[in-house]
Amino acid sequence: MGEASREIMRKARQQVPEWTPSQVKQALDQQSGSNEQEIVLVDVREKHEWNEGHIPGAIHVPRGFLELQIEEAVPDKSKTVVLYCAGGVRSLMAGSTLQQMGYRNAISMSGGFGQWKNSGLPFVQPRLMTDAQARRYSRHMLIPEVGEAGQFKLLDSKVLLIGAGGLGSPAAYYLAAAGVGTIGIIDADVVDDSNLQRQILHNTSRIGEYKAESARETIEALNPDVKVVTYIERLDETNVARIIADYDLIIDGTDNFPTRYLLNDAAIIANKPVIHGSVFRFEGQLTVFKPYEGPCYRCLYPEPPPMALAPSCAEAGVLGVLPGIIGILQATEAIKLLLNIGEPLVGRMMTYDALAGEFSELRLYRDPHCPACGENAHPEDLPTYADVCAL
Ligand SMILES: [Zn+2]
Repeated sequence: MGEASREIMRKARQQVPEWTPSQVKQALDQQSGSNEQEIVLVDVREKHEWNEGHIPGAIHVPRGFLELQIEEAVPDKSKTVVLYCAGGVRSLMAGSTLQQMGYRNAISMSGGFGQWKNSGLPFVQPRLMTDAQARRYSRHMLIPEVGEAGQFKLLDSKVLLIGAGGLGSPAAYYLAAAGVGTIGIIDADVVDDSNLQRQILHNTSRIGEYKAESARETIEALNPDVKVVTYIERLDETNVARIIADYDLIIDGTDNFPTRYLLNDAAIIANKPVIHGSVFRFEGQLTVFKPYEGPCYRCLYPEPPPMALAPSCAEAGVLGVLPGIIGILQATEAIKLLLNIGEPLVGRMMTYDALAGEFSELRLYRDPHCPACGENAHPEDLPTYADVCAL
């Protein structure tokens, strides 16, 4: 260290109080029981140093970005900000910068992370993305509401799609692109040429293949991070509880009423959110059924409509792009729920009229007498509607 640096250090030492690692540990332990976080621990080292290990609960603001990022990371300038680096020099300088910026209680940890570690104090090694993942998800990482932590959450998430058809196709495609780590697909059908006008997971060469297998091929080609679990069976009362148990949430892409009721009741018993979507000609709708926080499907429709009033897609027709829009909105709601961000469509039905080019929203309310989620309800005893119309 040259003469001038020594002088800067000497001045910084006069201005910035220093705590030893054990003093820092003690102060952190004291506040760990209370809700008030008076002390904020800031690691000012470079990213590669942070990646090799850091103190639990610390936030990372590299020295080079300190002036730019600290006010966002620690908006309250009256907090005690304990800074640390590798050996206690950079943190001392950083402390003097924070004082100039108006932070009243900036403290530098003497000896830095090196001494903390050598004293046998606890540290964590952060989970690392591969370089390929860092590049693939870079646009997520740039969004503060997602970031690296959110991307890891998505990679650890499990979403089940009921149906790899019109709604399931775009939903699964975008969830896979987003890096949702496990995607379950239940579908017993095979690809038919009349599906290809909207079911974009499949293609002409896959006609006759199981949709679930075709979906797996498409998803694996898009993103090798995603594990696809296929169920080539129909959802029924014998398998529904077992299949949904493994997932964080369910995207309902069915076009028939029996499955909707079956799924609704099972999801309430298992306490899993269902993202419901449906399409009809030029109109689509979606909502989130989150058990006990908003209404369920039976709160809205206690019993299925008579067959004559319930045409399926095959009978009614649908504009091919419409399930694309609704399916992507379902994927969007899934990501919001998985990351716990924004306002999910719980208790709100969003409708889209493609011809008018209009979205609108209806408020939905829980029915206290709902046979599935109301007081005194017994969802396990409710009838299924397998015989109402043909699956
Ligand atoms: Zn209900």
